[in-house]
Amino acid sequence: MGIKIYNTLTKRVEAFEPLEPGHVKMYVCGPTVYDYFHIGNARPFIVFDVVRRWFEYRGYRVTFVQNITDVDDKIINRAAAEGVSPQAIAERYTQAYWEDLERLGVLPANYQPKATEWIPKMVEFVQKLIDKGYAYVLEGGDVYFRVRKFEGYGKLSGKSLEELEAGARVEVDERKEDPLDFALWKAAKPGEPKWPAPWGEGRPGWHLECSVMAMGLLGETLDIHGGGQDLIFPHHENEIAQSEAATGKPFVRYWMHNGLLKYQGEKMSKSLGNFEYARDVVERYGKEAVRYFYLSKHYRTPVNFTHEAMEDARRAVERVYHLLEELDQELDRRDGHTAELNVEKLTKRGRTYLAYLERAKREFEEHMDDDFNTAAALGVLFELVKEANVFRQDVAEEDLPLLKRTFELIRELGAPLGLFQESPWRQAHGEVQAQLVELLIEVRKELRRKREYELADRIRARLRELGIELKDKGEETVWSYASTGAGVEGG
Ligand SMILES: [Zn+2]
Repeated sequence: MGIKIYNTLTKRVEAFEPLEPGHVKMYVCGPTVYDYFHIGNARPFIVFDVVRRWFEYRGYRVTFVQNITDVDDKIINRAAAEGVSPQAIAERYTQAYWEDLERLGVLPANYQPKATEWIPKMVEFVQKLIDKGYAYVLEGGDVYFRVRKFEGYGKLSGKSLEELEAGARVEVDERKEDPLDFALWKAAKPGEPKWPAPWGEGRPGWHLECSVMAMGLLGETLDIHGGGQDLIFPHHENEIAQSEAATGKPFVRYWMHNGLLKYQGEKMSKSLGNFEYARDVVERYGKEAVRYFYLSKHYRTPVNFTHEAMEDARRAVERVYHLLEELDQELDRRDGHTAELNVEKLTKRGRTYLAYLERAKREFEEHMDDDFNTAAALGVLFELVKEANVFRQDVAEEDLPLLKRTFELIRELGAPLGLFQESPWRQAHGEVQAQLVELLIEVRKELRRKREYELADRIRARLRELGIELKDKGEETVWSYASTGAGVEGG
């Protein structure tokens, strides 16, 4: 038993064992902060958020590092276009990145290092590669990595040097020793951000950043390194080459890559305007719909973004919340919230159902252990929703604790997916209805201020008939769903 992972490096599913027992050290490539991230960028954030949560569910301690690339050509270009400093662009979109992760319900990584805060370590690292003969300085101060000197180049992507050579000829820099060599350090051009180095002022290359921050925070060998499949080559291949050349040790034990997103059947492309910002999609469908959309497919398969698929995802999430709400109401009506589960007292039907719940939980966990198969795990969960909807129709008094158990189990299994933790009422009835209630509260407050108590009381009475309780606490009015007690409190 235990968790199994498909390792891009070996192209096999392997039993996961961390280097240090009980402790997972993982690194995932973060954003280049020059714009809001689009819905395709959201996939690795969600996928590796679930990977992290699942390890924690299984009792591991996780140290999760996700970098922020805050110096890059794209940032410099955007800054020039807007007539502001690259730092201003980087700061603006770093802030937006954090906000958007929160909108998606992604837990913050334990460390979120910024490239610009690690430059001295990067300079040290490049110097080490130069000293070992793996890197060379060109006139002008660019530093390149000698790809052919590193044995095993291509082992992640499965590309041969011949193949790569054919591809590399397209953009040959005449000054390089070999077309395959990649930049570790870029000499400063006028007006660009720059830092001092023994071989001349400049800035680090993108590949270098990840290696230095990953090893700086997690040690020379990481358990897991993740990212999108588009990063396998050249980014991750280069990370391996420079890291292993520097340390002589394996850089990463398990490489994980998520599949890519197509936008309405085509490649997502900002330059073609063929994309949507993640924040806009969340705004329209809700964060759980976005998470569900991704998690209902295996993380390694490609997915196609369409509005129909998002609408389906939204409805699927709503279905679960609807059940949660029904369970909660039934428990409320029959005073079942405090009933203890006692197998001895259950009816025959109840015992069969309990056995089913236990089996469902086990199956869910097995699927998650099997290379984080969220698609199959969600399949089990939705089967459970179906069964529960049948079971709850006609529940004997003795079996009431099973409704509570069902409610808790859905929450418990939803948690590692970042799903089904919200107020059932708000989710089942939708955000718009919640906002309508809040609007009525505002109107009522205004009426009371104008001493139009009759109308104010009528609003309160009508809402009560609809099952919504208003309570005045001083200046504030809070509301809850009257018959369940599970409603959110709003001010
Ligand atoms: Zn990276």
